Amino acid sequence: MENVIILGTGIAGCTAAIYAARANLAPLVISGEQDGGQLTLTTEVENFPGFPEGVDGTKLVQDSKVQAEKFGAKFKIDIATSFEEIESGFEVSLMGGEKVHTKTLIVATGASARWLGIPSEEKFKGRGVTVCATCDGAFFKGKEVIVVGGGDSAMEEALFLTRFCTKVTVVHRRKELRASKIMQDKAKKNEKIHFIYDSVVDEVYGEKLVEGVKLKNLVTGEFSDFKTDGVFVAIGHIPNTKFLEGKLTLDEKGYLNADKFMHTNVKGIFVAGDVQDTRFRQAISAAGSGCMAAMEVEKFLSELE
Ligand code: NAP
Repeated sequence: MENVIILGTGIAGCTAAIYAARANLAPLVISGEQDGGQLTLTTEVENFPGFPEGVDGTKLVQDSKVQAEKFGAKFKIDIATSFEEIESGFEVSLMGGEKVHTKTLIVATGASARWLGIPSEEKFKGRGVTVCATCDGAFFKGKEVIVVGGGDSAMEEALFLTRFCTKVTVVHRRKELRASKIMQDKAKKNEKIHFIYDSVVDEVYGEKLVEGVKLKNLVTGEFSDFKTDGVFVAIGHIPNTKFLEGKLTLDEKGYLNADKFMHTNVKGIFVAGDVQDTRFRQAISAAGSGCMAAMEVEKFLSELE
């Protein structure tokens, strides 16, 4: 029986692992679908304290993992599919077929990219429609692409894509961008980046690969044709809580409900990171919540004894 199983190896899970391991709890950390979490899909993190020159997102989580391992954390690549309460804790079922037992659980499963949800998007996934510029940007060298969204992620994706693409057009559904001023300014200053406002992608079309999109102007209701080689969707994220439905209390958008000490509604189950964060969603706040969850686990276990 494990003392604590941590679900998720993003920055929240890794920070929880560092704290739990330093408390001698030898945590077992299960990767989930995206090992390393969202930071592995980003480029430079400029606002994590202690890195005045910025730090590569993947390196930040990898180093955190090494740090946790140094204190005795065990990492496993697998995906939790469900859990059951058992007498002395929980039984977690993994996709690989294994069932692992633990006294406590920290859910740090994060959030995954939101897709547009239009039928033609499905048809062109992997053929020009993607949610990850860091992963797929290099395939669009010398091409023109669009980025859908108006938040920080959209600005970041657009800026990153200018390394490869000749033109990047941001398509946003409103007149005002949601992104922070610093990210907006950076994007607006870049000569390769253009903006189309008040518009959504109604359809993606092409033969085998993406050749263009049909845009709908939400103010006038008019449709227009826009030629493009790629569509990068950057419209936010959905919490990874499907496997918890009916077992833990979620809000209407699927985020895990937690109190200010990172406790869920089930005793012994704690939470950290974006899976419970509807407001901040920053690397540093995710890390902070991972620390809090692990400290609460330690307290919970010592009170059990
Ligand atoms: P976000 O802030 O929630 O922005 C999502 C954007 O997508 C919004 O502009 C939204 O439009 C648009 N959108 C949502 N659903 C849509 C749909 N179905 N069709 C068309 N457009 C849609 O998400 P995010 O940009 O991923 O950022 C998430 C968090 O991470 C934020 O707190 C952000 O600050 C942080 N972040 C920070 C950095 C950085 O500092 N470098 C980088 C990336 C992310 P509306 O504006 O109309 O709602």
